[in-house]
Amino acid sequence: MTVLQFHNTLTRRQEPFAPVDPAHVRMYVCGPTVYDLAHIGNARPVVVFDVLYRLLKRTYPKVTYVRNITDVDDKIIAVAKATGEPIDSITARTTRAYHEDMGALAALPPDVEPRATAHIGQMVAMIRRLVESGHAYVAEGHVLFHVPSMSSYGKLSGHSRDELIAGARIDVAPYKRDPADFVLWKPSAAEQPGWDSPWGRGRPGWHIECSAMSEEHLGETFDIHGGGLDLIFPHHENEIAQSECAHNGKPFVRLWMHNGFLIVNGEKMSKSLGNFFTVRDLLAKWPAEVIRLLLMKTHYRAPLDFTEDGLRQARVELDRFYNALQKFDPSCRLYDLDASLTPPADVTDALADDLNTPLAIARLHEHASAAFQSAAASREPSPQVSALYAGGRLLGLFNQRPETWFKGQAGSGLSEDKIEERIKARLAARKARNFAEADRIRDELKAQGVVLEDGPGGTSWRRV
Ligand code: AMP
Ligand code: ZN
Repeated sequence: MTVLQFHNTLTRRQEPFAPVDPAHVRMYVCGPTVYDLAHIGNARPVVVFDVLYRLLKRTYPKVTYVRNITDVDDKIIAVAKATGEPIDSITARTTRAYHEDMGALAALPPDVEPRATAHIGQMVAMIRRLVESGHAYVAEGHVLFHVPSMSSYGKLSGHSRDELIAGARIDVAPYKRDPADFVLWKPSAAEQPGWDSPWGRGRPGWHIECSAMSEEHLGETFDIHGGGLDLIFPHHENEIAQSECAHNGKPFVRLWMHNGFLIVNGEKMSKSLGNFFTVRDLLAKWPAEVIRLLLMKTHYRAPLDFTEDGLRQARVELDRFYNALQKFDPSCRLYDLDASLTPPADVTDALADDLNTPLAIARLHEHASAAFQSAAASREPSPQVSALYAGGRLLGLFNQRPETWFKGQAGSGLSEDKIEERIKARLAARKARNFAEADRIRDELKAQGVVLEDGPGGTSWRRV
């Protein structure tokens, strides 16, 4: 069995991966707060942990991947208030859009997708345990976690006590015993969503949601917890505090993995800078695999610069892969064999080394080069092109056949109908022996990114 190694944020080292139960690997990734369309930054952890999930599924007999939906949060309440749209409608609509967008990027659905509002009972039970064991206290309708009650608090982020206080998300409320204490439960006004609890009608804080949902679906100790770098503090630090204190100090998570930020043209992506892209907008302009490949071309822990040039380059790389597939597997046998194929060891090894996707992609290029250098095309796929295909599948690529890839690229200008019409016009010009006009049409199409190829069966085309 391939030995997987990953960088652990908790120990700040790369370590061999050793699941609690090798017969069943368990992973939790923080999912979206559903009030808005996902932006491309949100898609980064989804694609990163999708690659990890695919690798784990190849390596272990059973993997349970849990990714939650945060459907109760002050940001959702604020949108409902500003627009008048009911909360249920906002969360249902946004969850649906999220599924569509992430599905388009070929991210496999998680095995369990728990919604926070369906786990309020588990959250209340956990908060109750924390109060009973002296780790939490009630103050003015709030329940707060008392940070000094846990001596190892801060071990994930490595924050000092001063940083903890400065970083406390909410203004220091007068009812807090310690400025670093954080909310587990807060009261809801009549018009806000709320549930009955031993502390009155209220709603959970964000951090307790993930502690309760991971306990429910993965148990008290599980293997991997993931999310973006921004979640290390306070979110994940607080999840550790809640879960370990509610479980008598039992370790919560063995391996913490965090993806780096996505930045745009060197600047942090944000709405106010106007450099903000939703996944949906990008999907209207670019093939989904171009976006996915670009997200994988940078190692997950490094910052990822998301640029138009990067998208163009990713498209060229995919064209090269699909060209090799089309040429060396003309009858698409590989697509039929699919699940029975084994990815090449060099691609698996790259991923096994802290999910080195850039190296895995470089190795796909080597397999493509080897295919191009190999003997002439034959009806049977060559070993080189089989390696390219199976390695790409492990990365979630090649979700379409080459023909569809070359014809169906979104955002390339001309529609298929228009291209076919121009090809007919060119044919008519040639029949009339007006070769100048025929060449002009060919050049015009080329300028618009469409290349014509004349063959015995007629004229075919592809986008470049
Ligand atoms: P949110 O809905 O803001 O809690 O974010 C959902 C996920 O997207 C979290 O794992 C965040 O860390 C991640 N995320 C948000 N913005 C970015 C970004 N610019 N780059 C990378 N990951 C991000
Ligand atoms: Zn979380």
